[in-house]
Amino acid sequence: MFEYAPAPESVRPPIKEHYGLFIGGEFTDAEDGAVFKSVNPSTEEALFTVAEAGEADVAKAVAAARQAQETVWGPMSGAERGKYLFRIARLLQERAREFAVAESMDNGKPIKETRDFDVPTAAQHFFYHAGWADKLAYAGLGADPRPLGVVGQVIPWNFPLLMLAWKIAPALACGNTVVLKPAETTPLTALMFAELCQEADLPPGVVNILPGAGAAGAAVVNSAVDKVAFTGSTAVGRAIAKAVAGSRKKVTLELGGKAANIVFDDAPIDQAVEGVVNGIFFNQGHVCCAGSRLLVQESVADDVLARLKARVETLRVGDPLDKNTDIGAINSAEQLARIRALAETGAGEGADVWQPACDLPERGFWFRPTVFTGVQQSMRIAQEEIFGPVLSVLTFRTPDEAIAKANNTPYGLSAGVWTEKGSKILWAAERLRAGVVWANTFNQFDAASPFGGLKESGYGREGGRQGLEAYLDV
Ligand code: NAD
Repeated sequence: MFEYAPAPESVRPPIKEHYGLFIGGEFTDAEDGAVFKSVNPSTEEALFTVAEAGEADVAKAVAAARQAQETVWGPMSGAERGKYLFRIARLLQERAREFAVAESMDNGKPIKETRDFDVPTAAQHFFYHAGWADKLAYAGLGADPRPLGVVGQVIPWNFPLLMLAWKIAPALACGNTVVLKPAETTPLTALMFAELCQEADLPPGVVNILPGAGAAGAAVVNSAVDKVAFTGSTAVGRAIAKAVAGSRKKVTLELGGKAANIVFDDAPIDQAVEGVVNGIFFNQGHVCCAGSRLLVQESVADDVLARLKARVETLRVGDPLDKNTDIGAINSAEQLARIRALAETGAGEGADVWQPACDLPERGFWFRPTVFTGVQQSMRIAQEEIFGPVLSVLTFRTPDEAIAKANNTPYGLSAGVWTEKGSKILWAAERLRAGVVWANTFNQFDAASPFGGLKESGYGREGGRQGLEAYLDV
């Protein structure tokens, strides 16, 4: 029987019963009084209520951001701005445990991931960009690069705090102010981040946080911002590109993916299996760059599959706050329904489905780790982003066939290559149409390394020197 281990009181985050919108440095209710609930996906219990932003609130936030940009943040020296970013990074480190527990409760992801990845990587983004704030003239972008002004940012639910850091840190370092809309199912750490901005004495209006659903996102996109930065699905990205077409707004889009993890016959097999497991089951597969397709060379396919299944059988599914959990809850009932529906097409189209036996909690949103074999390229599970713990396995005979299959989706965000031969890595990396190619590893991220997609995975880069270009007039 499955039982929850309650988090020790000492690490319970101070979650309030109700949060307002964060506008001009203060929490305030929505003009029309709208409110929604945020639910813990591992228990289905409501965690808190939060004000829902409408067009009037967005306009207020953009005005506060404009005022702050023109009078305080824009004119401030880069060195001073950098000090604020360092302060935010330090506060995130000091509060790391609270943020990790809060993120696991609001999102459903395992505590070992929020503790070891989401929160430290978010802090790293602030440290990294703090370092750029006074060096923009040396970034190779011209002697006098200028901020764009007010940036509207809309983010998804899969890495709520980390996506916020990817968006806010570079924008602020470059002298912009922001109006950010977190995803409707995961506003908690963005609201805790707003409190942290108050504690850091960040000038009012530099960061504004407006929770709400898609309509609030559309209101941000259509408001008087100078740039829109979006991370989310390709369908919404397309709608945003249309909405801003012909306006003076700049736009960057970080969208979906369907990455291939390619295992050649000369790969270090155990290491490759670990990478394949991490590639698809990290964060329940709610990862834009997840290695959701395994392409394995025919001669080693049986061996790889046997070892893969044995490894997947050891994964623990359950309570996100248990530090031994490998796979937490699916973020929402809607996402669970989407995963189920797409997985069913796999079986319907003739692929073989395999899941390990494991107990699932009675309440909450859960999906067992799933491996489809006998997958053909034309199947929906080989083409569409499932955004869940579902791996589609395809085989290939020659390296050329592997590259052709890897590139045969509308996406181009990431790919993985497993081989002992350095020359094969370089050969494959040149031919893979993907923003990042990992070799003998997967899901590695660094604030100094630009990240972003090709094809329908979007345009623009986040992180590294290239990420600054998205927030400057050069
Ligand atoms: P989504 O597109 O449904 O929602 C993303 C955000 O957009 C949410 O905040 C949502 O409220 C908002 N939104 C919805 N409709 C909108 C509209 N018409 N105008 C403006 N905003 C709107 O995506 P999701 O389900 O939250 O996230 C999953 C998707 O995000 C996946 O496709 C995943 O691949 C992608 N993603 C990409 C990256 C990347 O860096 N490329 C990173 C994380 C997630």
